[in-house]
Amino acid sequence: MGPRRPRRKDEIILLTTLQEVLKIAEDTGTAIPAFNIDNLEGPEALVEAGEAENCPLILTVGQGAINAGQLWYLADIVKRLASQTKIPLVLHLDHGVSYEQTVLCLRAGFTSVMYDGSHHPFEENVRESQAVVRSAHAVGVSVECELGAISGVEDGISHKNVNLVDLQEVEQFIAVVDCDALAVGIGNAHGMYQGTPNLDFDRLAACRALGTPPLVLHGGSGTPDDMIRKAIQLGIRKVNVATELRMAFMEGLEATVGQRDFYGMYRQAKTNMYELARKKIRLFQGK
Ligand SMILES: [Zn+2]
Repeated sequence: MGPRRPRRKDEIILLTTLQEVLKIAEDTGTAIPAFNIDNLEGPEALVEAGEAENCPLILTVGQGAINAGQLWYLADIVKRLASQTKIPLVLHLDHGVSYEQTVLCLRAGFTSVMYDGSHHPFEENVRESQAVVRSAHAVGVSVECELGAISGVEDGISHKNVNLVDLQEVEQFIAVVDCDALAVGIGNAHGMYQGTPNLDFDRLAACRALGTPPLVLHGGSGTPDDMIRKAIQLGIRKVNVATELRMAFMEGLEATVGQRDFYGMYRQAKTNMYELARKKIRLFQGK
């Protein structure tokens, strides 16, 4: 047991921290879904799916939404949904690009921030991650860090090479950075896979054996179900899904655009996203 972290209850009482939901995942040997949100209709559909499956959700705001000017709106939407639902909701920053951006999210009421320094030299990643952890933990907010940059394109950020996490770096990193979750590159990629991904399960198991915090799998879109199940068995406790949800939503819009029924279009888009989210939740929960 570490020291009790002070919490600003007035700001985050309705929301849950990443640390709290990952504890549930650890205890049950499951993974909590981290679903990207970009608009009003998406989070509404996702929370309905979470309620139907009685599963906590991590709703994540990514760099695409932030670049589109949506950070504060999306934070407000998640807080409002949290006031109306019984399932635990985490408001999470995905792939935070700087210490300053994570501080902005602390101010906006996020209960979890990811700082992704995996593209920087190791020492810099350690230094910046430590700064983020110190600030976030001071106000009871959880932190996810990353080692071994994850390839593929997400929100316009592209990394071509598959980057497998270095076990020695994992050991050094967790010795000095008190993060609540760790994303690791094990051959996973962002976006939809063109072929079958080649996940390095031995490396995942070896990370876990080092006594890491709960591990995170990015790039959950298009990864075969059996690979996801195996990753969860080996210690993945949070799986990120963005692209596949957006595709489902857009397909709903495309299928109904000719009907010129404004709300009907969004209904179909939400239904598509809801159904896919329920499928993912059941998979991650081992149902
Ligand atoms: Zn990611």
